[in-house]
Amino acid sequence: AEKRIYNFSAGPSMLPLEVLKKAQSQMLNYEGSGMSVMEMSHRSKAYDAIIKKTEERLRTILAIPNNYKVLFLQGGATSQFSMVPLNLLQKGKADYIVTGYFANKAYAEAKKYGDIALAGTSKDKDFTYIPKQQELALNKDADYVYLCANNTIYGTEWKYVPDTKGVPIVADMSSNILSKPIRVEDYGIIFAGAQKNMGCAGLTVAIVREDLIGHAKEFTPVMMDYAPLAEKDSMYNTPPTYAIYILGLVLEWIEEMGGLAVMAKRNEEKAKLLYTYLDTSDFYQTQVNPSDRSLMNVTFRSPNAELDALFAKESAAAGMSNLKGHRAVGGMRASIYNAMPMEGVETLIAFMKKFEEENK
Ligand code: PMP
Repeated sequence: AEKRIYNFSAGPSMLPLEVLKKAQSQMLNYEGSGMSVMEMSHRSKAYDAIIKKTEERLRTILAIPNNYKVLFLQGGATSQFSMVPLNLLQKGKADYIVTGYFANKAYAEAKKYGDIALAGTSKDKDFTYIPKQQELALNKDADYVYLCANNTIYGTEWKYVPDTKGVPIVADMSSNILSKPIRVEDYGIIFAGAQKNMGCAGLTVAIVREDLIGHAKEFTPVMMDYAPLAEKDSMYNTPPTYAIYILGLVLEWIEEMGGLAVMAKRNEEKAKLLYTYLDTSDFYQTQVNPSDRSLMNVTFRSPNAELDALFAKESAAAGMSNLKGHRAVGGMRASIYNAMPMEGVETLIAFMKKFEEENK
């Protein structure tokens, strides 16, 4: 553990040390079962208790109402790009708000299945902002409105829930779920890949309002139909058992930390420290519209691409990994999810100051 580094990866990303240690302590013999959770039948009593407790914790932490199903799925957040239109298109129309790379992928995928409208986009300014309510062209006959709540690559985050006049909102919360309290009832579906704030890769969580289940197109592959998965409580087939167990440990950690209000406060403090520094420096720049800045993924750049490359190299040598920005944006990106401690951000800022001094 002494040699662990500050990992600023966008995902899979840093996990709380407490979670890793607990998993380590339970690795060989889970609670006297004589086996690892990895080796357990998903139908065993011991595993049943794990999955039930994990769902219960998620329901409590996110205050998920009873008319929502929690589904533990595979296929990554990307398979939701297909599952959402396959399950939700009934009249055949949906509105997509394209605020970045993954929203655009979801939009392109949905077009295979229906009449999909571009209800808003921030492409005109390189996805550096989130459209305002009055900039959205929403169709009241749409089956759903799709948005990406936090744009992992560009570093923008929705700070409001659009008024869709009752049309269900589908939100990809892969990179900001569990970072702050939300009102689940504002959404029809919330989904997220687990590999950022929820645990490890291999698990995708979907929180689906019950009335949206059971309308899949006839040709929908069974593993892409919410109905059988919901009907069998995510046990239609073998679920990603170990990843669900890790989510359970992450949720236990969040509970012990004080819940999502505490997570939000920590995340605000970390992001504020970093953005305040970026705003006072005239060496680094951040392109994102100040009111739409993500608290999870902070994107910035130095005066030129050569210095950006040097920054990536020297920060890695200084014990901070994955600060290189996504190839679509260039520059740098610091992903500071729940598990990143304040000291990680302070260490980054100290390095940034030194780098600025040496290269300005
Ligand atoms: N949506 C968002 C917002 C993401 O950040 C990512 C991946 N980082 C995805 C979707 C795709 O997730 P996956 O790799 O689990 O399919």
